Amino acid sequence: MIIVKSAKEIEKMRVAGRITAGALAAAGEAIRPGMTTRELDKVIHHYITSHGAKPSFLGYAGFPASACISVNDTVIHGIPSNEKIHEGDIVSVDVGAYIDGYHGDSAKTFAVGEISDDAKRLLASTEESLYEAIKIAKPGMRIGDLSAAIAEYNESRGFSVVRQFVGHGVGRDLHEDPEVPNFGKAGHGPRLVAGMVIAVEPMINLGKPQVKVLSDGWTTKTADGSLSAHFEHTIAITSEGAVILTKPE
Ligand code: MG
Ligand code: MG
Repeated sequence: MIIVKSAKEIEKMRVAGRITAGALAAAGEAIRPGMTTRELDKVIHHYITSHGAKPSFLGYAGFPASACISVNDTVIHGIPSNEKIHEGDIVSVDVGAYIDGYHGDSAKTFAVGEISDDAKRLLASTEESLYEAIKIAKPGMRIGDLSAAIAEYNESRGFSVVRQFVGHGVGRDLHEDPEVPNFGKAGHGPRLVAGMVIAVEPMINLGKPQVKVLSDGWTTKTADGSLSAHFEHTIAITSEGAVILTKPE
């Protein structure tokens, strides 16, 4: 069931979104070669808790950290560890903050130092496709319109779309209806109405779309070992169009 939010609820989600965005920005400022993904997780944890919020992911279905940190061929759900970040890596950081009953959810893939041209193109395409979808997200459009726009943008540039994981509604729960796939048919799926809040989150591979989940039950890698990027915003649908709740200041 899709839960439509009141203006008052969306105001609360703005607060959660702002803290989520701040935590992601703090990660971007801290990230450097030689640090471990656990150290980066600590920066995020500190930011969220010092702003009076709780990390949405910590303890979610048993997840052991405050952020998902996914390096290079890890698509999503990387568990912070003693793994070191290196010059030339791409690092996807996925963050959620919970405050006053509502969640924010946002992700970004960071380039660490100088990255390959392929990696640069992959990051640009993934991020741009997110904004293409946000641009058309308004009442009357359908989820499938967003999905098709994301797939078309990336596939026309030679990249592939992960199909096993999708975006979602956000609110009192981190994951609510509807599902927001990054592939699909324009004109299909639930219709957007003012008050819907969704996380749009393209996960795009340099190689083939297939992914595999490791035995830890979380870490999701590309099956062919190619690089993968992930950008996500939580957006509210209003009569004037989409408002990004997890926009950096
Ligand atoms: Mg996320
Ligand atoms: Mg999400």
